[in-house]
Amino acid sequence: MDLLNTLVDKGLRRELPTRDEALAVLATSDDDLLDVVAAAGKVRRHWFGRRVKLNYLVNLKSGLCPEDCSYCSQRLGSEAGILKYTWLKPDEASKAAAAGLAGGAKRVCLVASGRGPTDRDVDRVAGTIKAIKDQNENVEVCACLGLLSDGQAERLREAGADAYNHNLNTSEATYGDITTTHTYADRVDTVQKAHAAGLSACSGLIAGMGESDEDLVDVVFSLRELDPDSVPVNFLIPFEGTPLAKEWNLTPQRCLRILAMVRFVCPDVEVRIAGGREVHLRTMQPLALNLANSIFLGDYLTSEGQAGKADLEMIADAGFEVEGAGEVTLPQHRADVAAAAAGGGCGSHESAGGCGSHEGAGCGTGCGSVCGSHEPAAVPEVNEPRTDLVAVRRRGAGTDLAPNA
Ligand code: SF4
Repeated sequence: MDLLNTLVDKGLRRELPTRDEALAVLATSDDDLLDVVAAAGKVRRHWFGRRVKLNYLVNLKSGLCPEDCSYCSQRLGSEAGILKYTWLKPDEASKAAAAGLAGGAKRVCLVASGRGPTDRDVDRVAGTIKAIKDQNENVEVCACLGLLSDGQAERLREAGADAYNHNLNTSEATYGDITTTHTYADRVDTVQKAHAAGLSACSGLIAGMGESDEDLVDVVFSLRELDPDSVPVNFLIPFEGTPLAKEWNLTPQRCLRILAMVRFVCPDVEVRIAGGREVHLRTMQPLALNLANSIFLGDYLTSEGQAGKADLEMIADAGFEVEGAGEVTLPQHRADVAAAAAGGGCGSHESAGGCGSHEGAGCGTGCGSVCGSHEPAAVPEVNEPRTDLVAVRRRGAGTDLAPNA
């Protein structure tokens, strides 16, 4: 297909596709899907080989948010039965992080619900970063605390944060439809503050909120312009008790096309599959590793992911390898820029995930599809909402139960 040859050539040269080319990827038919994956896979392998970076979420503060992001189970007025708790203590967060690192993660993403941190919150997170870094020399730490005020990004950088996550989530044109308590411009401003402070910027999107193809292309083009080092792609988990509970719009094929489009538009950036991986890609998850070079290990902020062991087995079975702590994630040209901006600091610079939308990532396969009762399973109808795959997180941070890693 001429389109795909053109996109591969552009991806290898880091050249921006046209909007029409990006839209055409989203419009490809199921018959062409494997060709699309193969083409975007060439770009992925050129910049990232067969490595898969593992990231681990620690939800420092869950629920009780005054903001009204309609996709979020932690929002104001959410009736989702999620865990609600206030700030974890540094040693509690460090213990949760250690489980993820032992499972193979090289980055820990520290997330807190809320509009944005107070200066006291930033101090609190600084103590948590120190506790984690004291115990784990090579760990990368990304903070995701919402909108930043002047000076807070610098303070986080001084405290040892390597990256900051804040997602754009959707296009500027539709932003007001999903959130009214802050603006798209507020979000852009925070990503720019993180960048300016020498933090590796991580910013992504949520697909499946009822947006058009044009919206998806808009937000991904805006992300390319912001030039984050990593782009988490969340697939909406329509939580019961939130305004988007009925928005079951995604199929595994659609998710693969979206990931391919993101890869073509942001070829040399860490593309991370974030929340919704198990719920929406389902058995197609391994195919998506040909497009994304990064995933979260284990659970999400408010929902459970498949077992960490299953993540590792999937990566190995699909012929990929977990990226080691000593390996640099980004292609050399990006890593050099990031190192210069950070004064030579951290290792591989990149994402956060999970939050920025603080949630949006949420999914869970928990038991639904993995363990089981040995009873013959009912075969779901194609495109039937898979509410059975959404499991609220009941283990790890904020509970007495061991985390999933
Ligand atoms: S995404 Fe963040 S700011 Fe928005 S409601 Fe959820 S926790 Fe609050």
